[in-house]
Amino acid sequence: MKKNFKPIYFIIALFFLIPTGCTYNNSSSTDLLVNNQQITTTINPETTRSDCDTLVITCIDYRFAIANQEFINETLGLKDNYDHISIPGSISNLVNPETRELLFSKFALSVKLHLINRVVVISHKDCGAYGGSVSFGSEIAENETLCADLRTARTLLIEKYPTLEVNLFLESLVKEGDQVRVNFEKIP
Ligand SMILES: [Zn+2]
Repeated sequence: MKKNFKPIYFIIALFFLIPTGCTYNNSSSTDLLVNNQQITTTINPETTRSDCDTLVITCIDYRFAIANQEFINETLGLKDNYDHISIPGSISNLVNPETRELLFSKFALSVKLHLINRVVVISHKDCGAYGGSVSFGSEIAENETLCADLRTARTLLIEKYPTLEVNLFLESLVKEGDQVRVNFEKIP
Protein backbone atom coordinates (compact mmCIF):
# COMPACT_ATOMS: atom_id res chain seq x y z
CA MET A 1 0.00 0.00 0.00
CA LYS A 2 2.78 2.45 0.86
CA LYS A 3 4.24 2.10 -2.66
CA ASN A 4 0.91 3.27 -4.17
CA PHE A 5 0.75 6.44 -2.04
CA LYS A 6 4.18 7.80 -2.94
CA PRO A 7 3.41 8.91 -6.55
CA ILE A 8 0.26 10.67 -5.33
CA TYR A 9 2.21 12.60 -2.70
CA PHE A 10 4.75 13.45 -5.37
CA ILE A 11 2.10 14.81 -7.74
CA ILE A 12 0.44 16.82 -4.98
CA ALA A 13 3.82 18.25 -3.99
CA LEU A 14 4.51 19.24 -7.60
CA PHE A 15 1.14 20.97 -7.80
CA PHE A 16 2.11 23.28 -4.97
CA LEU A 17 5.72 23.73 -6.00
CA ILE A 18 5.19 24.65 -9.66
CA PRO A 19 2.98 27.74 -10.04
CA THR A 20 1.06 27.71 -13.31
CA GLY A 21 -0.63 30.10 -15.71
CA CYS A 22 -1.78 33.48 -14.46
CA THR A 23 -0.71 32.79 -10.89
CA TYR A 24 2.94 32.51 -11.92
CA ASN A 25 5.06 35.47 -10.94
CA ASN A 26 8.85 35.29 -10.98
CA SER A 27 9.16 38.69 -9.31
CA SER A 28 9.91 38.96 -5.63
CA SER A 29 7.54 41.95 -5.48
CA THR A 30 4.14 41.69 -3.87
CA ASP A 31 1.27 41.00 -6.28
CA LEU A 32 -0.24 44.29 -7.39
CA LEU A 33 -3.65 42.73 -7.86
CA VAL A 34 -4.42 40.71 -4.74
CA ASN A 35 -5.92 37.33 -5.69
CA ASN A 36 -6.25 38.57 -9.28
CA GLN A 37 -9.31 40.62 -8.39
CA GLN A 38 -10.74 42.84 -11.07
CA ILE A 39 -10.52 46.44 -9.96
CA THR A 40 -13.02 49.03 -11.13
CA THR A 41 -12.70 52.72 -10.54
CA THR A 42 -15.09 55.55 -11.31
CA ILE A 43 -14.01 58.50 -13.44
CA ASN A 44 -15.27 61.99 -13.95
CA PRO A 45 -18.13 61.82 -16.55
CA GLU A 46 -16.54 64.89 -18.18
CA THR A 47 -13.67 62.67 -19.36
CA THR A 48 -15.96 60.85 -21.78
CA ARG A 49 -15.78 63.86 -24.10
CA SER A 50 -13.61 63.54 -27.22
CA ASP A 51 -11.02 66.22 -26.61
CA CYS A 52 -8.83 67.79 -23.95
CA ASP A 53 -6.92 71.06 -23.55
CA THR A 54 -3.35 70.07 -22.87
CA LEU A 55 -0.54 67.63 -23.63
CA VAL A 56 1.90 67.16 -20.74
CA ILE A 57 5.40 65.81 -21.43
CA THR A 58 7.53 64.54 -18.54
CA CYS A 59 10.47 62.23 -17.90
CA ILE A 60 9.70 58.74 -16.60
CA ASP A 61 11.76 59.25 -13.42
CA TYR A 62 9.84 57.64 -10.53
CA ARG A 63 11.20 60.16 -8.02
CA PHE A 64 9.04 62.88 -9.54
CA ALA A 65 5.96 60.83 -10.45
CA ILE A 66 3.71 61.72 -7.49
CA ALA A 67 4.84 65.35 -7.40
CA ASN A 68 4.19 65.65 -11.13
CA GLN A 69 0.63 64.34 -10.79
CA GLU A 70 -0.09 66.75 -7.93
CA PHE A 71 1.48 69.66 -9.82
CA ILE A 72 -0.43 68.93 -13.04
CA ASN A 73 -3.78 68.10 -11.42
CA GLU A 74 -3.90 70.59 -8.57
CA THR A 75 -1.39 73.41 -9.14
CA LEU A 76 -1.97 73.75 -12.88
CA GLY A 77 -5.66 72.76 -12.50
CA LEU A 78 -5.54 70.32 -15.43
CA LYS A 79 -7.18 67.32 -13.75
CA ASP A 80 -9.07 65.14 -16.28
CA ASN A 81 -8.06 67.57 -19.03
CA TYR A 82 -4.70 66.42 -20.37
CA ASP A 83 -2.87 63.76 -22.34
CA HIS A 84 0.39 62.64 -20.74
CA ILE A 85 3.51 61.43 -22.54
CA SER A 86 6.20 60.15 -20.19
CA ILE A 87 9.53 59.42 -21.86
CA PRO A 88 13.11 59.13 -20.54
CA GLY A 89 14.74 62.56 -20.76
CA SER A 90 11.43 64.35 -21.47
CA ILE A 91 12.00 66.75 -24.41
CA SER A 92 15.70 65.90 -24.82
CA ASN A 93 14.24 63.48 -27.39
CA LEU A 94 12.70 66.41 -29.24
CA VAL A 95 15.90 68.44 -29.17
CA ASN A 96 17.84 65.44 -30.52
CA PRO A 97 17.38 65.37 -34.36
CA GLU A 98 17.66 61.57 -34.36
CA THR A 99 14.55 61.04 -32.24
CA ARG A 100 12.67 64.24 -33.10
CA GLU A 101 10.38 62.87 -35.78
CA LEU A 102 9.44 59.86 -33.66
CA LEU A 103 8.37 62.13 -30.84
CA PHE A 104 6.51 64.47 -33.18
CA SER A 105 4.63 61.49 -34.58
CA LYS A 106 3.41 60.70 -31.04
CA PHE A 107 2.40 64.31 -30.41
CA ALA A 108 0.35 64.32 -33.59
CA LEU A 109 -2.36 62.11 -32.12
CA SER A 110 -2.83 64.49 -29.22
CA VAL A 111 -2.97 67.51 -31.52
CA LYS A 112 -5.20 66.04 -34.22
CA LEU A 113 -7.41 63.66 -32.24
CA HIS A 114 -7.75 65.43 -28.91
CA LEU A 115 -7.42 68.94 -30.34
CA ILE A 116 -5.11 70.22 -27.60
CA ASN A 117 -4.27 73.91 -27.56
CA ARG A 118 -1.39 73.84 -25.07
CA VAL A 119 1.70 71.77 -24.28
CA VAL A 120 3.22 71.67 -20.81
CA VAL A 121 6.82 70.44 -20.79
CA ILE A 122 8.42 69.42 -17.50
CA SER A 123 12.14 68.62 -17.39
CA HIS A 124 14.06 67.79 -14.26
CA LYS A 125 17.55 68.15 -12.83
CA ASP A 126 19.71 65.06 -12.22
CA CYS A 127 18.09 63.36 -15.23
CA GLY A 128 19.59 59.98 -16.10
CA ALA A 129 19.06 60.61 -19.81
CA TYR A 130 21.59 63.46 -19.54
CA GLY A 131 23.97 61.39 -17.39
CA GLY A 132 22.76 62.93 -14.13
CA SER A 133 23.85 66.21 -12.52
CA VAL A 134 27.49 65.09 -12.34
CA SER A 135 27.81 65.05 -16.12
CA PHE A 136 27.35 68.84 -16.32
CA GLY A 137 30.26 69.77 -14.04
CA SER A 138 28.34 72.48 -12.20
CA GLU A 139 24.82 73.41 -11.14
CA ILE A 140 24.94 76.52 -13.32
CA ALA A 141 25.93 74.51 -16.41
CA GLU A 142 23.14 72.01 -15.75
CA ASN A 143 20.60 74.77 -15.32
CA GLU A 144 21.71 76.51 -18.53
CA THR A 145 21.63 73.31 -20.60
CA LEU A 146 18.21 72.20 -19.36
CA CYS A 147 16.69 75.67 -19.82
CA ALA A 148 18.21 75.92 -23.31
CA ASP A 149 16.75 72.51 -24.24
CA LEU A 150 13.34 73.50 -22.91
CA ARG A 151 13.36 76.69 -24.99
CA THR A 152 14.55 74.82 -28.08
CA ALA A 153 11.70 72.34 -27.60
CA ARG A 154 9.22 75.21 -27.38
CA THR A 155 10.58 76.74 -30.60
CA LEU A 156 10.33 73.38 -32.41
CA LEU A 157 6.80 72.77 -31.15
CA ILE A 158 5.59 76.21 -32.20
CA GLU A 159 7.29 75.88 -35.62
CA LYS A 160 5.34 72.66 -36.15
CA TYR A 161 2.09 73.78 -34.52
CA PRO A 162 2.00 77.61 -34.55
CA THR A 163 -1.28 77.91 -32.64
CA LEU A 164 -0.07 75.95 -29.60
CA GLU A 165 0.78 77.64 -26.33
CA VAL A 166 3.85 76.01 -24.74
CA ASN A 167 4.62 76.27 -21.02
CA LEU A 168 7.98 75.17 -19.66
CA PHE A 169 8.89 73.96 -16.17
CA LEU A 170 12.11 72.72 -14.58
CA GLU A 171 11.81 70.60 -11.45
CA SER A 172 14.41 69.54 -8.92
CA LEU A 173 14.71 67.63 -5.67
CA VAL A 174 15.30 69.87 -2.68
CA LYS A 175 16.54 68.44 0.63
CA GLU A 176 15.24 70.06 3.80
CA GLY A 177 16.55 68.16 6.83
CA ASP A 178 15.18 64.64 6.54
CA GLN A 179 12.58 65.71 4.01
CA VAL A 180 12.91 65.82 0.25
CA ARG A 181 10.61 68.12 -1.71
CA VAL A 182 10.15 68.68 -5.42
CA ASN A 183 10.53 72.29 -6.53
CA PHE A 184 8.95 73.49 -9.81
CA GLU A 185 10.30 76.56 -11.58
CA LYS A 186 8.52 78.16 -14.54
CA ILE A 187 10.97 78.85 -17.36
CA PRO A 188 10.15 81.97 -19.42
ZN1 LIG B 1 14.85 62.00 -16.28
